[in-house]
Amino acid sequence: MTLPPWAITLLIIGAFAPLEYFFPRITGRPSIKGRLVAVMVIGAISLVTLSLLNGQLQQVLVPLFLQIKLFSLSKLEIPSPLLFLAGFLLIDLIQYTMHLVSHKVTVLWRMHAIHHADEHVTAASSLLHHPLELIVAYGMILCLYVILGIPILIIAIYGLVNAVHSVFCHANIALPAKLDTALRLLIVTPDMHRTHHSIRMDEGNSNFGQVFTIWDRLFGTYVAHPTTGESALIMGLPEGEKPKTFSFSGLLLLPFARR
Ligand SMILES: [Zn+2]
Repeated sequence: MTLPPWAITLLIIGAFAPLEYFFPRITGRPSIKGRLVAVMVIGAISLVTLSLLNGQLQQVLVPLFLQIKLFSLSKLEIPSPLLFLAGFLLIDLIQYTMHLVSHKVTVLWRMHAIHHADEHVTAASSLLHHPLELIVAYGMILCLYVILGIPILIIAIYGLVNAVHSVFCHANIALPAKLDTALRLLIVTPDMHRTHHSIRMDEGNSNFGQVFTIWDRLFGTYVAHPTTGESALIMGLPEGEKPKTFSFSGLLLLPFARR
């Protein structure tokens, strides 16, 4: 039996629930009524929208951008493991760049901001993306994959790894300090990504990395710890950017709200 992607995502989120319960990083904050429902419903809408549009986007964008293909990664005459590594890193660099651009370009930030509206970041927050953001970001990323001729198998494996890692790095868990230090030499950890959700925009505009930490370190966007320390970190959007209510409609309308 093959489970659909949304069921796998829910299973992964569920698997982190006991860890979040027994080893939470942030405790004692009052929970927002209906928060989880709003997050899950928006997550479900985004996943469904994306899967419905997936075929259409591919049909339109792939032939269009095949014409301006710069080179084909799969045609490089290098050993397969090296090709896989190069493709994997290239995809991660594209994801890093797309995330950074989503913070710098106003129209993209308006769509991405709902991901930062959550003041209680947990594993489920990995689902909190505006459907418009997913369509636009996915469309742009797909074009880059085609232009750079990245093999479909590497794209699929990265997608799987990214899905699991995204839930992990949003989970409200306190990893042992030594494990966190060792892991973040290579991959983004929950403490590192939570700093990206800080209400302080200087901290929010850091740690854009998706899976690997190398790009933040290389391009000077790496912030090791929030100024408050990890367990006192205040997350969410600053005043003036917050949704009127943390509800399904409040979040969905956020990109169009007056500021
Ligand atoms: Zn962000």
